[in-house]
Parts: sequence; C-alpha cells; structure tokens
Amino acid sequence: MYKRFTWVSTLLFVALISATSASANTSLNVIASFSVLEDLVKRVAGDKVRVNVIVPAGKDVHRWELSPPNVLALEETHIVFYNGLGLEPWIHHVEAMADDNLTLVEVAKKADYAPLAISTGQYSEEPDPHMWMDPQGAAAYIDVIADTLAEHLPEQADAFYARAEEAHKALSNLHQALKERLDGIPQTNRTLITSEAGFGYFARAYGFEAQGIWGVNHETLGSAQAMADMSEYLTETRPRPSALFYESTTPDIHMDALSRYTNIPLAGPLYVDALSGKDGPAANYPAMLRHNAEVLHSALGGARAE
Ligand SMILES: [Zn+2]
Repeated sequence: MYKRFTWVSTLLFVALISATSASANTSLNVIASFSVLEDLVKRVAGDKVRVNVIVPAGKDVHRWELSPPNVLALEETHIVFYNGLGLEPWIHHVEAMADDNLTLVEVAKKADYAPLAISTGQYSEEPDPHMWMDPQGAAAYIDVIADTLAEHLPEQADAFYARAEEAHKALSNLHQALKERLDGIPQTNRTLITSEAGFGYFARAYGFEAQGIWGVNHETLGSAQAMADMSEYLTETRPRPSALFYESTTPDIHMDALSRYTNIPLAGPLYVDALSGKDGPAANYPAMLRHNAEVLHSALGGARAE
C-alpha cells in the first residue's frame, strides 16, 4: 500500500512539473549571435521573450567557437537571430543542430538596407556584414526582428511593433546626434583607418573615407602583404591621416607597428564587433556609437566648440 502510494505520488509530481514547465514555455526563447544584435533584439522583445546571446560582450563575433553552455542554451531556443553575410563563420554548427523547433534568421540579409562590398583582403567584393555600424542599418534590423517575433508570438505583435517604433525614433535621434558631432571634424581630416575594414557603412553615413589593414576579422590578420599595402597607403596618401585606430576586439599590435613606422598617432579603442562590459564605454548600442564618435572627434581634430 505504502509502495503504491509512493508510485502514485511520483506520477502526480511528474505531472505537476510538466504542467509548470509547459506554462513557463508559453514565452519565447530567442538567442542573438553577438552582443550588438542582442541589444537590438532586446529593444523589441519585451518581457514575454527571453533573450540570450552566443558571443558575449567583449568577445569577437568573427572568431568564436560554440561553447558547451551555448549548445545547452540553443537546445532551449526557438529563434536564433544572427547577422549573417559571413560575420559568423561558425553558424554552420548551429545550422547542424537546427530542427523544426529552431528557426534561424539571417538579419542582415533580410534587412531592407543597401549592402556595400568588403573593401580589401581575402573576402573583398563580398557583402560587408557590418551594417549595424550605421544606425539606419540597425533600424532595418529592428524591422526584421519585429516581423520575426510577431510571426512567432502573434498575440504580442502590437507590442513588438510599438517597441520597434520607439527604437526607430531613438535610432533616428542617435543618427542626428552623431551627425552633428562628426560634422565638427574638418573635411580634410576624414580618413578613418582601422585594423579591420569594418567602418564602411559608418563612413557612408557620415562622410568618411574608411580603410582597413584587412577586410574582416575571420581572415588572416595582418598578413605581410596587408601590412605592406597599408604602409604604402599611409606613406602616399595626402593629406596624411592624422590618426590610426584600433578596435576593442582585435589585437592592436599591427596598428601599433604601423603607427610607429609612420609616426601617425594611434587612438582607440573603437567598438565594432562587440559591446563592452556593463561598466565600459560601449555598454549598449547607442553608447557604442557615441563613444566611437567621441574618439574620432578627439583624434581627428574635431571643433572644440561643444
Ligand atoms: Zn567585424
């Protein structure tokens, strides 16, 4: 009798647990491939959607390897938002895990925003993945995110689109603020040299000439040929660039060597492929671009007025 009672209790207990987890699962679990995209997804998601990230703040999205916690998190996930256009060469491991319950969304490819080609290196002429570096590109991402979430959780669609509208306003204000700040940099001083050529979209939006030692971080970094080409560019370009920049997730040894060789000062870090930690200068998307604008303003001789 006692034994039977225990067995029945166990069944009841299991049924209770299942019911509890079923109600917990009424929300949607999504994961963003890297911290910048995580920030944009969170702006639309609200509290009915759990948002996780694969490559955490501070880490380079290009050169990541899926970790055991990533794999565990993916097993609980309904949607993976990834940038695409080659940014995450490791995404094929996620694709290999995908089943009917996991939707992969290549945000940059779906975004209504004109792509540019990678300007140099092994992947030159392929689409440049760094569209988020222009707030107007980020706004196009917001639309893809809102459409995807609305499709998966239709009862929340109005809330998703309302938050997307707010995000559009914030991004438009950010764009205006960046433009005003960057307009203070003289026209003759708008050469933006970085390790990775990740500023093409930013340069298009704000009137800079952008160049990198290499094209994207998942190619060979700082090959002898790439260093020689950049060295020649820096020696021959007139007017001479007044600063060289390094990024938060790339080693600065290459740019440092070029800086010493050419006597052009080194400045940075600029943030591109990852946000900083919570206490850093690029804790969220707008902070990242505002920080970059301040570094450029200071290093490229922006007007002192403000
Ligand atoms: Zn990059």
